Amino acid sequence: MSLMHKRIFHHDGVRFFKITSPSIQLPLNQLYPGTINQDTLPDTPFEIPVNSWMVEYRDQLILIDAGISRLGEEQLPVSHNAAPSFFEQLALFGKKAEDISMVILTHLHLDHVGWSTVFENGVWKPAFAGATYYMSRNEVDYLLSDKGIAEGGGDIFKRNVLPLILDNQVRVVSDPRSEIAGGIMYQEYPGHSPGHMIVRFRTQHSEICFCGDIFHSTLQIGNPSLSSSFCRNTVQALTSRKTFLKRAAARGSLVCSAHLDSPSAGFISFSGGGYSWQPLQPDGKTQN
Ligand SMILES: [Zn+2]
Repeated sequence: MSLMHKRIFHHDGVRFFKITSPSIQLPLNQLYPGTINQDTLPDTPFEIPVNSWMVEYRDQLILIDAGISRLGEEQLPVSHNAAPSFFEQLALFGKKAEDISMVILTHLHLDHVGWSTVFENGVWKPAFAGATYYMSRNEVDYLLSDKGIAEGGGDIFKRNVLPLILDNQVRVVSDPRSEIAGGIMYQEYPGHSPGHMIVRFRTQHSEICFCGDIFHSTLQIGNPSLSSSFCRNTVQALTSRKTFLKRAAARGSLVCSAHLDSPSAGFISFSGGGYSWQPLQPDGKTQN
C-alpha cells in the first residue's frame, strides 16, 4: 500500500483523507510537565504528528484544520522533513484547493490554522477561495485578548483570520453546540484552548468525530488526567477529555485526532475501569 493510500479511510459510507504537516518534536517530560513521575518519562524528543483531515460528505469537500505553515514552523519545535507539502497532498488525493467548500477549525493554534491563508503578491489571502471558514467566537476573542496577544495571537489573527474576515468568508460561531450544516455538529469542548471545538459528522449507523486536541498521545486515553503543556486550562481540559472519552466509547464513534500516531483514527473502548485506543486501518478494520 502506498504512503498516500495509507491516509485514505472509509467508514460507514464516508471517505476521508489525512493530510500531514511537519511533526512537533518535544520531550515527553516537556509535553506533560509535572503531571506524572518525571523519572519515568524520557527526555529525548517525542514526535507529535500534526494532522488535518479532508472529508467527502454529502457532495461537499470539507477540511478540518489547516496544518502548520511558515509561522508555525518558525515558532514551534517542528521537524522539517514533511514532504509533500499540504497542497501537494491535496493534489495527490486528486483534489484542488478550490474544491473545498467548508474549512472547519477546531481552534486557532499555529498547528491548526497554518494554511487557512496564503501569502501572494504581498498580501495574505484565503487559501480556499470557495470555502466558508468556521471558527469559535471564544477563540477569536482570546486571540485578541491581552493574554492572547502576549502569546502571539495578534500575528495569527493578522495572517490567518483577518484576511478571511475581509473577504467575507468566515462564520464566527458563538453557540457552544450547533449544527453548522446538515449532519455536521460543531461543539465546544474547552480547556486545551478557551473555545476548543470538536466536529461530528453523522453517518448512517453512527458518527465520525474530529476531536482536535482533546489528547496529544494515547497516554492521555489510558490516563485522562494528563494534560499537555499546550493546554490553557488543565481543569477544563480534563473535564472535556473525560466527557469526550465517555461519550465516544458509549456511542462507538470513530475518532480522528490531530495528534495521535498513525493511523490517527480509531475507536475508544472501555474495559477494566479504563479507556483504550483501537486504531482503525485504512481498510476499515481495527488492529486489535
Ligand atoms: Zn494541536
